[in-house]
Amino acid sequence: MLNRKDLLGTSDLSKEEILSIIDLAERYSDDNNNHVNNTKILTGITQINLFFENSTRTQVSFEIAGTRLGTNIVNFPLKNSSQSKGETLLDLASTLNSMFPDILIIRHPNSGAVQLISEKVKCSVINAGDGYHEHPTQALLDAQTIRKRLGTITGLKIAICGDIAHSRVARSNIFCLKTLGNQITVIGPKNLIPKGVETMGVEVTNNMFDGLQGVDVVMVLRLQKERMNGSFFSSEREYFHQYGLDEKKLKYAKPNAIIMHPGPMNRGIEIDGDLADDINRSVITKQVEVGLAIRMAVLDLLTENHPLRKK
Ligand code: ASP
Repeated sequence: MLNRKDLLGTSDLSKEEILSIIDLAERYSDDNNNHVNNTKILTGITQINLFFENSTRTQVSFEIAGTRLGTNIVNFPLKNSSQSKGETLLDLASTLNSMFPDILIIRHPNSGAVQLISEKVKCSVINAGDGYHEHPTQALLDAQTIRKRLGTITGLKIAICGDIAHSRVARSNIFCLKTLGNQITVIGPKNLIPKGVETMGVEVTNNMFDGLQGVDVVMVLRLQKERMNGSFFSSEREYFHQYGLDEKKLKYAKPNAIIMHPGPMNRGIEIDGDLADDINRSVITKQVEVGLAIRMAVLDLLTENHPLRKK
């Protein structure tokens, strides 16, 4: 049970809430794998997808998740909307609110924009990624993927590598994985590690060989160039040499350590292409599969008290 209107981040989720989402997602994951046709428990519920920033995995999986559960989906066409005529975000929110949607799924390039909209609308809002702030469903699907593969999601040593400073995935994962009782090390060049990140309860190092010692999970992040002002690294070649995950660096992790990446991947920059494809180590495609189940679970739990579901 999730007793909340919105899912805006993982920073305020309790351990019980996180586990209730991933436990339900486990059931959806089995259904999806066994081609079980989910009962359309969300029939009549209107879901609007508002993506102000590019997306492949997140947008498509929210769309399929809604379809499987029976929602009426409206994909908001940003290019043809009044946003291009200069309408403010708050005016857009109150316009949408007047049409009685039940659930809004929003991705926005500005940190905090999703929360702003959520305060203006009566319906549930799910943050599908806002700037470098939070991306809660990514962290939840990462936690579930780890639990599936390693049999536990507590007491693990987890390294998050690369561009931590511009990554909402890193922030949401740190909150979520810390709440679940894991030890996190962030690894990256000095200028891609946010100041004060230690206050989030993580270890910090600028050296991949040190940071990867004995870890169970290696999470690799993309260089978020779209959020960089100026240049943060000398060359992609040099970056790969120091921070790209390859066989040599992976040897420092535990022999059964898994490799994760939220996608989209830049092969040969933050990760070696062969490692990314190594089905014995990499769970990158599993993350996408689990993402669908997590999004079904979140849609289900956030609308549990909706009057249409009482019938
Ligand atoms: N897809 C993830 C995000 O939206 C990670 C990335 O773009 O690198 O934050």
